[in-house]
Amino acid sequence: MSKKVYIETYGCQMNVNDSEVVLAILQEEGYTLTENMDEADLILANTCSIRDNAEQRIWGRIDQFRIQKKTRPDVIIGILGCMAERLKEKLLEKVDLVAGPDAYRALPKLLKAVTPERPQIDVLLSHEETYADIKPVRLDKNGVSAFVSIMRGCNNVCSYCVVPYTRGAERSRDPHTIVNEVTDLWSRGYKEVTLLGQNVDSYYWKDKNNSNGNTNFAQLLEMVAKISPELRVRFSTSHPKDISDEVIYTMAMYDNICKHIHLPVQSGSSIMLEKMRRKYNREWYLERVKKIRSVIPDCGITTDVIAGFSGETEQDHQDTLTLMEKVVFDSAFMFAYSERPGTLASKKYADDIPQDVKTARLNEIIELQGRMSLKSNQKEIGKLMKVLVEGPSKKNADELCGRASNNKMCVFPSLGEKAGDYCEVEVVSVTSATLICKRIESCLDGIVNR
Ligand code: SAM
Ligand code: SF4
Repeated sequence: MSKKVYIETYGCQMNVNDSEVVLAILQEEGYTLTENMDEADLILANTCSIRDNAEQRIWGRIDQFRIQKKTRPDVIIGILGCMAERLKEKLLEKVDLVAGPDAYRALPKLLKAVTPERPQIDVLLSHEETYADIKPVRLDKNGVSAFVSIMRGCNNVCSYCVVPYTRGAERSRDPHTIVNEVTDLWSRGYKEVTLLGQNVDSYYWKDKNNSNGNTNFAQLLEMVAKISPELRVRFSTSHPKDISDEVIYTMAMYDNICKHIHLPVQSGSSIMLEKMRRKYNREWYLERVKKIRSVIPDCGITTDVIAGFSGETEQDHQDTLTLMEKVVFDSAFMFAYSERPGTLASKKYADDIPQDVKTARLNEIIELQGRMSLKSNQKEIGKLMKVLVEGPSKKNADELCGRASNNKMCVFPSLGEKAGDYCEVEVVSVTSATLICKRIESCLDGIVNR
C-alpha cells in the first residue's frame, strides 16, 4: 500500500510552488497526496516566518498535528520552509523532521532515517539549488493557472525582512528549463503561468559557455510569452529599484503578458525607505509608476505597505497616505510592522511604535486603500475586458468569475463556459473588490453560446 502525505502550505506563492516540488520528490518515493490528515503517514507544514503572527499560527497547528501521535505513534510530522530554516533544532522538540527551503532533495534520505528517538534535520542553504529539473506536482484544482519559480533567495537585505536569512542568496534558474516547464504546462491545458521570484527584475542567467546566451528578465518574459499568444503570462514580485524600462516595453509589446505589476512600496516616506534599505525614495517610486502608466496606460498596479516601522513619525505615516492617494493602487497587502529576530532592523532599530499606534495607522491605510480600490474600479465602468474563467462565482452559481489582464476580479453571467475559457465582458458596475460585468459576446474559446 502506498504511503500518504498530507501537506499544509502557508505564506507566499513561492511556498505553494515549493510544496509542489516537495510532492514531486515524495511521489518518486511512493507517496500519494491526501487531504485528510487522519489517514496520513506523513504530515507536513510548509511554513512562513515573514511576520510573528504567521509563526504563531503554525505553532498552533503543530500542537494539533501532535494529537495524531496519540493514536498513531508512527505518523511522521515535518516542518519545511522558512520557519524550519529560522528555528532549526528548536523545532525538533515538537516534530520529527525539519527541512529548510534548499533541502527538499534530502527528504527521502531524512524520511528513511527518522525514528521517534532520532528526529532528522537538514537546513543547509545552497548557492545553486533551483530545483530546475523537478517537475512540480500541481496542487491547484482547476488545471488553468500554475506558478513557476524562476529564481530563489534574495540579495537585498531590506532591514525589516527575514527572507534573505531563511531562503538564502539569490540565484536564477536556467531559462531553458523554465521554457520547457511552461511549454509542458501549456500542452497539458494550462492557460496562465505566474513567474515567481522575490525580485524578478534582478533575474539574470549567465550562460557559462556563451556570453551571448545570457538572459535578463525582459528577455525571459519574451521567451515565455512566445510559447503561445493564448497563454497568459504574469509575474511577481517586482522591486521598484530594479524594474527596468526594457521590462515595461516588453510587457507592452505582448498582448499575452498581463498588464499588472505588483510593485511593493512599503512606505511613502523617503526617510523610512532609507531606514528600510529599500534603495529608492518616494520620488523614484512615483517616477516608476509614471513611466509604467505612460507606456501601459491601463496597467494594474498593486503594492505592499508596512505600517509602524521603527521610528515612523506621524509625518512619515501621512507621506504613505498621500503616496497611496497619488498612485491610486488597485489593491494592496497591508501589514503592521513585526520585528523579526536576526534582521538588521532588530539589531539596529528599536521596535518603538506602540501596538495601538501601529494598529490605528494600519486601519487608516486599509480604509484609504478601500476607497482607492473603489475609485480605481470605477474608472473601468464601460470598458471591455477579456477574462480567463476561473470557475463559478462564490456567491452565485449562475455566474462565473475570472481575472482581467490587469488582475481585477470580474463576475458575469454564465453561458456554460468552464475554467480556462476566455470570455469578453463589459464592466457595468463595481465594488471595491469586484468588477460586475455583462456579456458582450459569446465565449472566445470553448463552448460557443449566445
Ligand atoms: N520580495 C518582495 C519585495 O521586496 O517587495 C516581498 C516579499 S515579502 C514575502 C512580502 C511582504 O511582506 C513585503 O513586501 C512586506 O510588505 C511584508 N513584510 C516583510 N517583512 C515584514 C515585517 N517584518 N513586518 C511586516 N511586514 C513585512
Ligand atoms: Fe525581503 Fe526585501 Fe528581499 Fe523582498 S527584496 S524578500 S522585502 S529582503
